[in-house]
Amino acid sequence: MVSDRLADRVALVTGAAGGIGRGIAARLLAEGAVVVVNDLDPDACAVAVADLGAGAVAAPGDVTDPASATAVLARVGADHGRLDILVNNAGVTRDGPLHRMSDEDWRVVHDVGLRGAFNLCRAAAPLLRAPADHHRKVINISSNVALHGAPGTANYSAAKAGLIGLTRALAREWASRRVNVNALAPGLIEGTGLTAAKPAELIARVAEQVPLGRAGTPADVGAAVAFLASADADYMTGQVLELSGGLEVPV
Ligand code: NAD
Repeated sequence: MVSDRLADRVALVTGAAGGIGRGIAARLLAEGAVVVVNDLDPDACAVAVADLGAGAVAAPGDVTDPASATAVLARVGADHGRLDILVNNAGVTRDGPLHRMSDEDWRVVHDVGLRGAFNLCRAAAPLLRAPADHHRKVINISSNVALHGAPGTANYSAAKAGLIGLTRALAREWASRRVNVNALAPGLIEGTGLTAAKPAELIARVAEQVPLGRAGTPADVGAAVAFLASADADYMTGQVLELSGGLEVPV
């Protein structure tokens, strides 16, 4: 165990069979939380839970479907009676130049990355807003392209920027219930399904530009999420934390 900062906490991580989601789940487990692993495919969830080990439990479901989101949260409530940490991590890309982007490519990316987070926050509201003696946490996984843009990502950059708007509005709405809502904006994170889908030369070119000299890893993201999920970040809400090895430092 890395620490016991999250002992007795129950966390739900969406898209947790994927690269970053699994890194987040592993770190939350290592800090003492029980982690509910959500992803689309039940078999992929089962494999992730087996890899993650004790404390991980599966709750497959489609974040784009409000009924599915409600069912996942009903299960969390029935099995654990509480939810302390919600990580909206599920996301997809459909990159391409805007003038050739299909309606479907726009819709799918918004449905998973933005509407999915809305569905989960709404379904989790009764558990997250219930009286408690500690802060509850929502952490939305945005992207540094939401803040800086990147060619070929109009759909993704817009959805991830929308997620920042959702983060700030909900931070203000739920502050009185001591629910902290923050966003994380990673740069290039290697070793995930999403980066594997991009051309290797593009990944190498971006990695070369990172001032800290390397791409990030799912473990880097897990460490930042664990901080936001912990009492160490109780006085932080409505913020966007960039995690990109210094790419965003103004020159
Ligand atoms: P990934 O493809 O490995 O993981 C994404 C996971 O989301 C997959 O397991 C996928 O099955 C799941 N998912 C897709 N649609 C879903 C749905 N409808 N319901 C439930 N789960 C669904 O990619 P990743 O890089 O680990 O991405 C995780 C998050 O990190 C995404 O939101 C992504 O946009 C964000 N991100 C990634 C990078 C990067 O460089 N890899 C950078 C910034 C932000």
